[in-house]
Amino acid sequence: MIGIYGGTFDPIHFGHLRSALEVVERFALSQVLMIPSAQPPHRETPQVATKHRWKMLCLALAGQDLLRADDREIQREGPSYTYDTLAEIRAEVGDTPLCLIQGGDVFAGLESWHRWQELLGLAHIFVMRRAGEPVKWDESVKQHYGNAVVHDRTKLFASPAGYIHELDVTPMQISASDIRHRLLENKSIRYLMPDSVLAYIEQNQLYQRALGVQRALGVQRGSRVQNG
Ligand code: ATP
Repeated sequence: MIGIYGGTFDPIHFGHLRSALEVVERFALSQVLMIPSAQPPHRETPQVATKHRWKMLCLALAGQDLLRADDREIQREGPSYTYDTLAEIRAEVGDTPLCLIQGGDVFAGLESWHRWQELLGLAHIFVMRRAGEPVKWDESVKQHYGNAVVHDRTKLFASPAGYIHELDVTPMQISASDIRHRLLENKSIRYLMPDSVLAYIEQNQLYQRALGVQRALGVQRGSRVQNG
């Protein structure tokens, strides 16, 4: 089974990395593709240029094989729809089981995603409870997908797509918006991400200036809206 872990990674942090690795190990996945969203359709534009988010992801994943940076949404024109990404990967891998890995916060907004009713035709969805919180199901998603929930792992391996599986990962109260906020406040972000990413942020003076300008303009930061 191959995992697909999308995000803005603005910036990548240990919450992403640790949860991806735990899913790899628990399900003996052959790999997880970590795919930065170039133009998230349903959330604010990322704060730093795509090239920086990509570089930070590559630095974070350097030297290990199980988590792989994948730039297909950066290469593609237009909004970064997960449906299109899954369709592309499905065409490449034949009947190999795929699982789309997402946090409960993202799953809670699934009904706003492009062609969300068709996602399970392409992959399973693994929903990670964030900080042990129960997963919230939107009413229309429950109606459409409520019967697709499975606890039995063998079903997940026996089918290329079609099921939703909820799981726990080690709770880590780390978020990219909190990291951006700390940078704005001139606070340390050490131990929230790999040192290589930290050094890159410092060298390129990322987030500090952009957020300073935003604050001056009164733009709200860190609002949680969804990808798609
Ligand atoms: P932001 O704070 O800017 O919204 P974020 O930290 O949630 O960002 P994203 O890139 O938006 O990061 O998230 C990508 C995926 O990673 C989502 O599925 C999200 O639920 C998951 N994720 C983010 N942080 C954690 C964490 N600490 N533990 C588990 N999953 C996480």
